[in-house]
Amino acid sequence: MLTKNKNYDVVIVGGGLSGLISAFQAADSGLKTLVLEKGRHLGGSGNYVEGLCAVGTEMQQKKGINYTPSQLVQAELDYSHYEADARSLKEYFNNSAETLSWLHKKIGIEFSEVTKLGSGLMTWHLLKGQGKEQIQNHLVPSVKKAGGEIQTSISAERILKDNRGQVSGLVIKNEENNAEEAISAKAVIIATGGFLNNKKLVKEETGYDPSKIININSGKNTGDGQKLAWAAGAQRVAKGTLMAFNGYLNDPTNPAYKYWYSEMNTAAALQSLLFVNEQGDRFVNEQVTDNFANCGNVFLHQNKVYSIIDQSTVNYLTKQRLFKSIEIYYENINKPFSHLQDQIDNALMEKLPFIHKADSIEQLAKELNLSNLSTNLERYNYLCEKGQDDDFEKDSHFMIPVKKGPFYAFELGIGAFTTLGGLKTDLNNRVLSDKGTVIPGLYAIGADAAGKLCGDTYSPNVCGTCAGYCAYSGRIAALDALKLVNK
Ligand SMILES: Cc1cc2nc3c(=O)[nH]c(=O)nc-3n(C[C@H](O)[C@H](O)[C@H](O)COP(=O)(O)OP(=O)(O)OC[C@H]3O[C@@H](n4cnc5c(N)ncnc54)[C@H](O)[C@@H]3O)c2cc1C
Repeated sequence: MLTKNKNYDVVIVGGGLSGLISAFQAADSGLKTLVLEKGRHLGGSGNYVEGLCAVGTEMQQKKGINYTPSQLVQAELDYSHYEADARSLKEYFNNSAETLSWLHKKIGIEFSEVTKLGSGLMTWHLLKGQGKEQIQNHLVPSVKKAGGEIQTSISAERILKDNRGQVSGLVIKNEENNAEEAISAKAVIIATGGFLNNKKLVKEETGYDPSKIININSGKNTGDGQKLAWAAGAQRVAKGTLMAFNGYLNDPTNPAYKYWYSEMNTAAALQSLLFVNEQGDRFVNEQVTDNFANCGNVFLHQNKVYSIIDQSTVNYLTKQRLFKSIEIYYENINKPFSHLQDQIDNALMEKLPFIHKADSIEQLAKELNLSNLSTNLERYNYLCEKGQDDDFEKDSHFMIPVKKGPFYAFELGIGAFTTLGGLKTDLNNRVLSDKGTVIPGLYAIGADAAGKLCGDTYSPNVCGTCAGYCAYSGRIAALDALKLVNK
């Protein structure tokens, strides 16, 4: 037998951030609870999460931050052109401070500070030691202590329904030997973390070319939850939103996380220097990096993106200071990227595909076939000298001329953390059918359900909304399942 029992009140598909929080709420409420995790390890992409959105917390009050939930709802509605669901946002934000306090009091989750990222609001409540520390040290033990059963290397394959259309169980599979069996459940909660690692679904749901996208996540978010629910009659929502995360060094020979904290990646992608496209044309105010999702969007609409830096800028960044700090990653602007030159030299020595060096701009342009690069650089250097960006209104602080060879070009892909949505749910996170009716016993939470928080673009302006929603939706679904089971 793949599980300890054959019959459960609630089975949660996915042992990541939202699934484990939901499992704790279910088990703590007395439900016979099972978590299925297809990987060998728990935590999913949640292991990398830095912080959760909430409003009205003690941490914010201590810092004198007084946003109201309705202010945040309005910010999200405006940002999404009202594609986001006002009622869901309202419920989520109204309950967010209480959710964080519950995480702390009941599970022992520890938060270190409240901050922001880029141009966002101070709503990002950072987890001590990131998701991995809190999930592994507090969440997993709490689920077990509350009586929840957790099985790894077991995936959900199919949702079973009875002749009234009510969810009645699941077909599950042992990932090690492919053995399948059926278990029964009164409620199934889908928490598989979206479909970023499924190129076909990324293309179908977002319309973007997946070959440009560099996945910086667990690698296990393959859209299983969407496929399970669609096969069980769930509405396929046309809008799957990508949480794009800025430009990112495009190196197919190394795992994406290698560049996560690299000075070279930060210099090339996040210092708001000079970006050009496949023609060698500048296309945006490079301060767009202050909103990582906007930056992702503008990059996705180019065929190629290169960050162009000259030797004097490399020297400045390596020996003197940064042009801007990047919250929680590179906070001290006076601490230079002391490894930058070494990282560049190593990448060149290893002939990594994203980096190019030439003694002259003409040579660089020829090598990369950037027909307009020389002309555009002349113009850019002129604007830098003038101290005014007449083309894109970039702050003069970031108008750094590109004059002193050698010259470097870094090819940037688009980093991405997750997708949001693909399934439609009601306020209790019950999955809705094609007709908009509830599929009894079927729930979706976390990234699988978070599409309703945004439009076609994730909003980093209200920092941490996805992870905060993992906690909120996980609890709401478990509490609704409790009502269903007790009926
Ligand atoms: C690097 C990184 C940093 C992030 N930082 C933040 C942040 O600071 N703030 C924020 O708001 N958001 C952040 N996010 C986005 C989002 O909050 C996370 O992706 C979060 O982990 C989503 O939680 P989840 O439970 O939906 O998915 P996950 O945590 O990925 O959990 C899904 C789990 O389901 C399992 N699974 C999949 N299919 C099956 C199946 N068929 N059967 C059984 N199990 C299955 C997977 O193996 C995985 O363990 C970040 C994402 C990444 C990748």
